[in-house]
Amino acid sequence: MSTYRDLAHRGSARATVLRTVGTRERRSHLTAPRVPTVGIDIGGTKVMAGVVDADGKILEKVRTETPDKSKSPKVVEDTICELVLDLSDRHDVHAVGIGAAGWVDADRNRVLFAPHLSWRNEPLRDSLQSRLAVPVMVDNDANTAAWAEWRFGAGAGEDHLVMITLGTGIGGAILEDGQVKRGQFGVAGEFGHMQVVPGGHRCPCGNRGCWEQYSSGNALVREARELAAADSPVAYNIIDRVQGNVSDITGPLITELARDGDAMCIELLQDIGQWLGVGIANLAAALDPSCFVIGGGVSAADDLLIGPARDAFRRHLTGRGYRPEARIARAQLGPEAGMVGAADLARLVARRFRRANRRRLERYERYERYAQAIRTPRTARDTQGNK
Ligand SMILES: [Zn+2]
Repeated sequence: MSTYRDLAHRGSARATVLRTVGTRERRSHLTAPRVPTVGIDIGGTKVMAGVVDADGKILEKVRTETPDKSKSPKVVEDTICELVLDLSDRHDVHAVGIGAAGWVDADRNRVLFAPHLSWRNEPLRDSLQSRLAVPVMVDNDANTAAWAEWRFGAGAGEDHLVMITLGTGIGGAILEDGQVKRGQFGVAGEFGHMQVVPGGHRCPCGNRGCWEQYSSGNALVREARELAAADSPVAYNIIDRVQGNVSDITGPLITELARDGDAMCIELLQDIGQWLGVGIANLAAALDPSCFVIGGGVSAADDLLIGPARDAFRRHLTGRGYRPEARIARAQLGPEAGMVGAADLARLVARRFRRANRRRLERYERYERYAQAIRTPRTARDTQGNK
């Protein structure tokens, strides 16, 4: 049960409850113990685990393949446990943080749904905690990446930050006053499925015209493959590069060719960037943050993508010319952001664990002293009585 609900349940005044919860969470990363923790990023293809210190420095990193989707949820748990045990051979592990590509419930215990894994309403935190015997924190991977960028990267010091990760789809997260905004049910920040083109491209989510169908790695590759398959003269360069195998066209290849000056690839990135700017303007209308951080694999294209996004953002921003404009920055921490953020968020539960443990220890010592005190005279009395 969350602190808020726990206190509310006991009938405390709402204002007191809100103040207590708010203050505790806002200060948490400052007062959390400066201990190394393990962060784990679970994606559709790779699991990355690392020991991270309190300054966000990665002390050691290991990677492995994500176990097969068709297998049971336990297989992924086994992989996580193996990685943590392996790292704990060489490091002190005080807590484990998981950034999972899926929907995590508001209590951050269950993974409600993960499109690339077999988790369906899986109580991941509790089952891992019982197996690992250290505190475990579970969150959505976009949330952990945003947390890392806010603590150590492009969004440092921002009070209102929105992170957008452009991978195969679009992930997102909202941070306000040093708190991740997760929504009532834990699934806030799914910007990728806002509808931007009525009746547009079909999305795997079941709807049509979702934002991520126009501004993501998948959208970039789809457009390039369409042009190549149509044998368009603008695509001759990229067709040469993949020796006619259209299915070999990937996001990184398009970015590489665009950097070398290939006109088609530059244009495709501009299109993606423009749609990115339109979506950002919509988000600014709803959330009005001070900074947008753009992360994910596609952000490697840097100014080829973010330049057109900035232009489109300025053209579409509501009230333009009469309001301050949010900064649009490229993420700085790269593919490790999700892992570093998960580790840093885990330090927040490490504190509670240590405090609870210290209290338990103090209580135990008090009992021991008390037991000692009452044992001694009785033994003395018994000895006297026996005489
Ligand atoms: Zn969708």
